[in-house]
Amino acid sequence: MTSDDSTSTGPGDSSAASEEAELRQQPGELVFTPRRRRERPPQHLADLDRAGRREKATALGFPAYRADQVSKHYFERLSPDPESWTDVPAAQRTELCAALTPRLLHEVNRISCDNGTTVKYLWRLFDGSLVESVLMRYPKRTTMCISSQAGCGMNCPFCATGQSGLTRNLSTAEIVDQVVAGAVELAAGEIPGGPGRVGNIVFMGMGEPLANYAATLGAVRRIVSPAPEGLGISARGVTISTVGLAPRMRQLADEGLPVTLALSLHAPDDDLRNELVPVNNRWPVAEVLDAAWGYADRTHRRVSIEYALIREINDQPWRADLLASLLAGRLVHVNLIPLNPTPGSKWTASDPAVEDEFLRRLRAGGIAATIRDTRGREIDGACGQLAAAQ
Ligand code: SF4
Repeated sequence: MTSDDSTSTGPGDSSAASEEAELRQQPGELVFTPRRRRERPPQHLADLDRAGRREKATALGFPAYRADQVSKHYFERLSPDPESWTDVPAAQRTELCAALTPRLLHEVNRISCDNGTTVKYLWRLFDGSLVESVLMRYPKRTTMCISSQAGCGMNCPFCATGQSGLTRNLSTAEIVDQVVAGAVELAAGEIPGGPGRVGNIVFMGMGEPLANYAATLGAVRRIVSPAPEGLGISARGVTISTVGLAPRMRQLADEGLPVTLALSLHAPDDDLRNELVPVNNRWPVAEVLDAAWGYADRTHRRVSIEYALIREINDQPWRADLLASLLAGRLVHVNLIPLNPTPGSKWTASDPAVEDEFLRRLRAGGIAATIRDTRGREIDGACGQLAAAQ
């Protein structure tokens, strides 16, 4: 096998899934319908498994083991500069670098806060698309929030990313390279706190990861595979967030990857959720929760329910009680997220007292719940604020 799987969205793959895609529902199933052909991102070794990389090196006239060496530099040593590849003949470095690790992310801008320990990167991709990722260093761990799509087609009205629509799906390597970019800086000691490692990855940047399923799964496999096949980050440190594409949630449960599933619920009733999360019109609350419980049963992983508290929209006490009754007895944790304001939006955060009461009611109903630390808010790097504005 040369790429991730038969439905890979890796570059150079003839699958339609790497093209701009449209979600369409068949009876009980989600399919991707290509709207038009797009030029694909350059193929990168992170798009390929080990066999595929070796095959590619051989096709280029290099011994297969050169692919292993370059993989080691990229994933394990975090040394993207070919000049540092001293185990590769100098005359071959440039060509191998161009063929196996072409530059995918061009830094346009970065903003930092929290004394340099939170960094938001703005990247330009090969076709001019813009995406963002955020590195957050805490005393005991570093988390990277990454994007799976340029823009997003889910159209949640309170979200900055959703306002500009979907530009395109990212390739597996374009997703992985966001993690590697942060890992390289951390390893080099460029983030305050000394040299470090990325331990947690959250797919909560731009896009709906499960709408770019094959590339997202390919990226997860690269992230969790032991070096030098991948980055060797524990699957338990990876969180995939979704607004509730139920068929893909069920598919993810069958993948055998113990990643955390985060379901962005935001309302416990269909009337409101249809408005806040339009995809709810296809897969309503009961169905997405059923898919979430299926995920918990298969993986024995606690599902995370994300609930952005929006003033006088979804923060009423009765909604807290309804949410508690829907989640009772399940392997679940609720993250209450004070809504991050977006420019020009009528949606705003709940009063702290209302947040506290919502939390209290959930806990009184026996539900594990916390109010999330919204790091990065001051640089628009928090959830629902990634809009790739320069
Ligand atoms: S909240 Fe998530 S799924 Fe909804 S528009 Fe924003 S990025 Fe897309």
